[in-house]
Amino acid sequence: MDIVMAASEAFPFCKTGGLADVVGALSQQLAGRKGNKVVLFLPHYRNIHRLSSLKVVPGVYYIPVGGHIEQVSLSYVAWGKVVVFFVGNRHYFDRPDFYRTKNGDYADNDERFILFSRAVLEGCKFIGFRPDIIHCHDWQTGLIPAYLKTVYKLDAFFTRTHSLLTIHNIAYQGHFPYSSFEKAGFHPVDFVPSKFEYYGGISFLKSGIVFADNVNTVSPNYARELQDVPSMGFGLEGLLKYRGKNFCGIVNGIDTEIWDPETDTLLPMGYDAVTFSKNKPISKQQLQQKIGLEENTERPVVGIVSRLDYQKGLELALPVLEKWHQKVQFAVLGCGDPVLEKQYQQLAKKYPKDIAYVGKLDEELAHEIYAGSDLFLMPSRYEPCGLSQMIAMKYGTLPMVTKVGGLADTVVGYKEDSDNAAATGFFIEHFSEKSISDTLEKALGLYGNKKIWNKLVKNAMLRDNSWDKSAQDYFTLYKKTVA
Ligand code: ADP
Repeated sequence: MDIVMAASEAFPFCKTGGLADVVGALSQQLAGRKGNKVVLFLPHYRNIHRLSSLKVVPGVYYIPVGGHIEQVSLSYVAWGKVVVFFVGNRHYFDRPDFYRTKNGDYADNDERFILFSRAVLEGCKFIGFRPDIIHCHDWQTGLIPAYLKTVYKLDAFFTRTHSLLTIHNIAYQGHFPYSSFEKAGFHPVDFVPSKFEYYGGISFLKSGIVFADNVNTVSPNYARELQDVPSMGFGLEGLLKYRGKNFCGIVNGIDTEIWDPETDTLLPMGYDAVTFSKNKPISKQQLQQKIGLEENTERPVVGIVSRLDYQKGLELALPVLEKWHQKVQFAVLGCGDPVLEKQYQQLAKKYPKDIAYVGKLDEELAHEIYAGSDLFLMPSRYEPCGLSQMIAMKYGTLPMVTKVGGLADTVVGYKEDSDNAAATGFFIEHFSEKSISDTLEKALGLYGNKKIWNKLVKNAMLRDNSWDKSAQDYFTLYKKTVA
C-alpha cells in the first residue's frame, strides 16, 4: 500500500509530546511491512536545517493562503525505509518554536497549518507519489481530509486516495474564526454545521472528523469516553457518535528499541524480568545520587515524568507528596504550567532529601527515573492513551493511574480480593487527592511483601507494549478505509 503520513511532529525530527513518538514509530513499523511504501510529511522547522543528510527536491511550488500565494520547497531524508519530506516555507516554519512563543500560540497557526495541509497534497503531486491513504494526525492536519472531499474532489491524481484521521488529544481542536475558513479557500456554501461551521468559526479537527473516511483515537476506552462522557468530548461527542460506525480506538505501542531496560545504555546496569531484583536497585541508587535524594535503596521511590498540564492532574499530587515524603521519595521531571512548576520547586526545596524536581525536558533523566523508581504516578483527568505508564511497566516500575482513557486499557489493577495473576499496577479509583493517597498507601503496604511485589513487577515487564499488534490493527484499518 502507498501510505502518506502527515503530522506536525515525529520523533526523532521534532517532538513536543507523545504524538511525535507515535507518528515516528508507526511510520517505521508500517514501512517495515512487505508491499508498503511510506512517505512522511513534516513541517520544515528551524531545527531541521541541522540534519546533515538533508537533500533538496529541485524546484518549488505554490500554495494559496488567504489573499496571497506562498512558495513551498521540499527537502527530504531517507530514514530507514521511510522517506521523510519537510515542507519548507521560511515565513511560517523558520521560527524558534514549533507552535508558540512564551506568550502563547503563534497568532497565524491557522495559516501555518492551512499551508502545511495543502502543501502535503500538492507535495504528493510534486514528487509523483499517488497515495492509497493519507493518515492525518490531530487538528494540524485535519483540513487534509476536507480538501480531498471538496477542493480536490475532482482531481484525477487523488481518485484512489482515502483518508484516516487519528485524534491524539481532543482537547486541542484548532478552533479559528470565520476568516480562517476563507483563508483556507473552501466554498462558502460549505460553511454549515454539518461540514465546517463550528460555533461561528472553523475547527480544523471537526473538519477532519466530518470529512475523513475513517476516524480513530488512541485507545478503545478513550473512543468510548469521547462518545459517551460529555465532558470528555470537548463539544465533539455528538459528531463522534454520529461517525460511530467509522470511529474506533487503537492503543499506542512504545518503541521497544528506545525503551528497553535490558539494553538501555543510560542505565548503570541493564536488567530484565529475571534480573530486576538484583540490578534495578543500582539504577535507584544512581538516580538518588544524581538528583540529590538521600541514598538509600530501601526507600520506595515514586517517579513522575510528565507535562505539567491540566490534563495530568498533578496539582492533586502536591499535598500527597507533602504527606508521604518521610516514608517515600519522589523524583519529579516535568515542565509546563509555571504555577505548578513553582509549587513543585518549592516542595523540593523544602524537603531536598525526599523530593527532587527537575523542570525541563530531559530524555536522559526520564530514562533514569523510569528505571530507578518503584512506582510511577499518573493521576490524569483524562488520558487518550498515555505512553509513560507503558514505559514505566517495561522498566518494572508499577504505575499508579486513574482509571481513564488508555490507562484503563493498558494497566491491570491490583485487587486485594483477587489472585492478581495478571496485575501490573494500581488504579486510583477517584480523581481526588485522597484517592491518590489511599492508592499510595495500598501500594506501600504491598512493597514489603516481595513475593507479591515481584510478581507484579514481572507481570508489568512482560506485558507486550510493542507496536507489533497496534501496527497490524492500523494496517487492517487502512485496508478497511481504502476498500
Ligand atoms: P502526553 O503525550 O500527553 O504528554 P504521554 O504519556 O502519551 O503523554 O507521552 C509523554 C512522553 O513524553 C513520554 O515519552 C514521556 O517520557 C515524555 N516526557 C514528558 N515529560 C518529559 C520531560 N520533562 N522530559 C523528558 N521526557 C518527557
